[in-house]
Amino acid sequence: MQLKNPILGLCQQAKFMLSAAKVDQCPDDAGFEVAFAGRSNAGKSSALNTLTHANLARTSKTPGRTQLLNFFLLDDDRRLVDLPGYGYAKVPIPLKQHWQRHLEAYLGSRESLKGVVLLMDVRHPMTEFDTMMLDWTVASGMPMHILLTKADKLTHGAAKNTLLKVQSQIRKSWGEGVTIQLFSAPKRQGLEEAYRTLANWLELEDKAQQ
Ligand code: GDP
Repeated sequence: MQLKNPILGLCQQAKFMLSAAKVDQCPDDAGFEVAFAGRSNAGKSSALNTLTHANLARTSKTPGRTQLLNFFLLDDDRRLVDLPGYGYAKVPIPLKQHWQRHLEAYLGSRESLKGVVLLMDVRHPMTEFDTMMLDWTVASGMPMHILLTKADKLTHGAAKNTLLKVQSQIRKSWGEGVTIQLFSAPKRQGLEEAYRTLANWLELEDKAQQ
């Protein structure tokens, strides 16, 4: 892919920074941050790895790093944040409550957070976790970009139908601040559109024009 902007280079040099179990353990709230969220198995690790050409998300799944927020440094001012993706049935209730409380606080209070990327399996969109994330993100006045992952598992027509259906449902219930696209990690489908959103939120666009 021939991207003129520096987002590709920055993503390729992403490095694990720290894990935070609570909002007060986050790095200084300065610069620009983009957070990734998705119910477990939605394809978040695969998407993060494809976007960064690294093994970031496996890092997030290693013991001791399965905390609330995993921060990855792109440069001195910019970070990607991996949020916990949990299947409701699998996570003990006290941990779920802890995550909900702190996630909501993070989304509601983090000045440097410029947008949230929400990942949904195109075959199982709009789970309870997804509507909760939509509610919190939109209530915080934060832009959201949805990746409908595993698009390669459906025919082109079926994937497109799901995209249109989910898009219309979201517009009706959550308004215009949410954008959505199809994505496939193995096919590298939708990469350019996803990078464009990241570059925009991380304020890398001006440099892209140079
Ligand atoms: P996470 O729990 O959200 O981090 O999900 P993973 O990235 O670990 O993916 C869960 C499963 O879905 C794994 O078996 C992946 O190989 C598979 N997967 C993830 N993204 C894609 C995709 O775009 N296409 C296909 N065919 N499989 C995918």
